[in-house]
Amino acid sequence: MTAALTTDPRQAALTLRQGGLVAFGTETVYGLGANAFDVQAVARVFEAKGRPTFDPLIVHVSSREMLSQVVAEVPPVAEQLINEFWPGPLTLVLPKRDFVPDLVTAGLPTVGVRMPAQPLALEMIEAAGVPVAAPSANPFGRVSPTTAEHVIQSLGDRIDMVLDCGPCEVGLESTIVSHVHGDAPTVLRLGGLTVEEIEATIGPVPLLTAQQHEEHLPMAAPGSLARHYAPRKPLTILREHEVPPPGSDVGVLTLMALCSEASFGAVEILSQTGSLTEAAARFFGALRRLDAAPVSRLYAHSFPDHGLGRALNDRLTRAAAGAPANESNLT
Ligand code: AMP
Ligand code: MG
Repeated sequence: MTAALTTDPRQAALTLRQGGLVAFGTETVYGLGANAFDVQAVARVFEAKGRPTFDPLIVHVSSREMLSQVVAEVPPVAEQLINEFWPGPLTLVLPKRDFVPDLVTAGLPTVGVRMPAQPLALEMIEAAGVPVAAPSANPFGRVSPTTAEHVIQSLGDRIDMVLDCGPCEVGLESTIVSHVHGDAPTVLRLGGLTVEEIEATIGPVPLLTAQQHEEHLPMAAPGSLARHYAPRKPLTILREHEVPPPGSDVGVLTLMALCSEASFGAVEILSQTGSLTEAAARFFGALRRLDAAPVSRLYAHSFPDHGLGRALNDRLTRAAAGAPANESNLT
């Protein structure tokens, strides 16, 4: 059966309360949601995505009161970040309350939590009256969905409902900041809120390196698998102004216009004005279109390494890593 499509947050909330799976739009990407306190519903999220259970889910809340049902403690610096950036594309990893199921947090004593800046999503969570655990609404390892249609295409027959919230405004997953007990706040994953914005509020924040992820957080590494966000076609990253090899079987993803567009089978220009904000919003959709275009090899220009360009480069690197995807080892 195909998922029901709705624009009514109350209907989506009812489905969540009944233990159903509801994909919903946020400002970052579409999430696949379940009542975070309903272990069976949460188990179905992992099953529908083909997501390994060592990868914890982000819990979405609609109010401070709901936050306090999920986390045991909000340190002062986290408080500052919440005041400044919620609702918005910032996930905080904080000490969890005992009754948050272990399946949600992959057995960790912490929980990733955020308040999305999407009015319909907030209404849905509010009406459901429970926090909503939701990873991105795509098969594990694949390109993230930024429209309701993307969700229907890849998970439509495995979930109950999609709350159509229109295209995602930010278009990249949330930035994840961990802040537990005595530890200084650390960025675990680059995303839709820039490190520059975070640092303007709380001062310098270190970014956990890939190696530190592997050594210290093998099971909590957020979106940190080397290959993730992956198209089906082989993808090569070029330097900012490097010319891709011409060919009708070549697809190109680039920030601004190329002078030689006719030499390629397909070209996706992310922003005529070079805006990284616009590029982020269009990034995953463009990657999907290139994957569907009649070309066999993809080339992508890397982005300027600041602001959202850093998160875009991170997604690009993972999308390009390793051999072309083989359905059986990614879902
Ligand atoms: P997704 O929703 O698919 O973008 O994945 C969310 C990411 O948040 C996952 O890759 C998790 O590893 C990360 N995450 C969620 N909870 C925690 C936590 N308690 N500690 C560290 N990372 C977390
Ligand atoms: Mg994901």
